[in-house]
Amino acid sequence: MSRTYDCVIVGGGIAGLQAGIQLGRYQHQTVVIDSNNGRSTLCRNYHNILGWPNGVSGETLRNLGEMQASSYGVQIIKDKVVDIAIENTGILQITCHSGDKYFAKKVLLATGVMDRLPEINHLIPCLGLSVYVCPDCDGYEVRNKKTIVLGAGKTGANLAKTIKQWTNSIVYVNHDGDDVDDETKKVLKDQGIEYIKEPIDSILTGTNETAIEGIKLTSGKVIEGEKGFIAFGGNEVRTDLVKSLGIERMENKHITVDPRTKKTSHPNVWAAGDIAVHSEQVTIAMGDGMQAAIWIHKSLMEDQQKP
Ligand SMILES: Cc1cc2nc3c(=O)[nH]c(=O)nc-3n(C[C@H](O)[C@H](O)[C@H](O)COP(=O)(O)OP(=O)(O)OC[C@H]3O[C@@H](n4cnc5c(N)ncnc54)[C@H](O)[C@@H]3O)c2cc1C
Repeated sequence: MSRTYDCVIVGGGIAGLQAGIQLGRYQHQTVVIDSNNGRSTLCRNYHNILGWPNGVSGETLRNLGEMQASSYGVQIIKDKVVDIAIENTGILQITCHSGDKYFAKKVLLATGVMDRLPEINHLIPCLGLSVYVCPDCDGYEVRNKKTIVLGAGKTGANLAKTIKQWTNSIVYVNHDGDDVDDETKKVLKDQGIEYIKEPIDSILTGTNETAIEGIKLTSGKVIEGEKGFIAFGGNEVRTDLVKSLGIERMENKHITVDPRTKKTSHPNVWAAGDIAVHSEQVTIAMGDGMQAAIWIHKSLMEDQQKP
């Protein structure tokens, strides 16, 4: 007879690990299943988190989170969940890529969002250190710096306009999007933002491969810059797993949750982090994970008290 966990957490990034820590402290039988490929595996430095004045990498946070959750008896499994189904008993069956199956009374989904990252040489090592994703997180890092926006279509143009608050030296390179319309071109020009429509070959760095010094376009042209931002659009909201459960999703594939409990439209499934809200911040993912864990706990306790 297979063991039934109190909770299976699908996704061991920021939200999933925070929930795991809390569920572990309640002493619930909990497993976190993680495929190790999320936004928190990509970001090499978060700068806006309480307690980390010099920043902290996603890798460090995840390693600390896994250790902390494990110390409370939470199991961490490296695998990819490929299916979630409901058995006749109401127990949720979670199937992994390896073929392993897990059974759970409650499931927390914390699978995150993944940015679209076109193949541009040397992009990955710079992410979060000199090339940024989110102006709310890192607009501050480009203040008064010559900044290159690597983007696509209108998404890139909007990002270029947004970071005007911090710097007057901006070049927007539209890598693989549709050309922007004349009105947008005029707005960019009026704001002193240079616009180039050409694919990017690579990010140029010096001996420090995490510090952008410019970019090379496919024509060979080089544009110098001290900082970069990406805005390619088309990010993947990783919620296809819930299709078979009939869980309510928004048009953009984010999962609708109760704002207080983080419960989805399914009575035994919660969602936390980037997939649930649209703020896409570490601190919010942590808060979501914590809130979900508290309400999963309440639900488990209520179930126990049922005759
Ligand atoms: C380059 C970059 C810089 C950023 N900078 C900042 C910043 O400065 N400040 C800030 O607050 N935020 C920043 N963010 C955003 C921040 O990383 C996210 O908001 C945060 O990681 C969300 O946490 P999450 O737990 O929802 O998702 P994630 O951290 O992405 O974790 C989701 C996890 O789920 C796993 N997963 C997905 N599908 C499955 C599956 N089917 N089976 C098993 N596991 C699965 C993934 O492998 C991943 O480990 C940045 C993001 C990027 C990419």
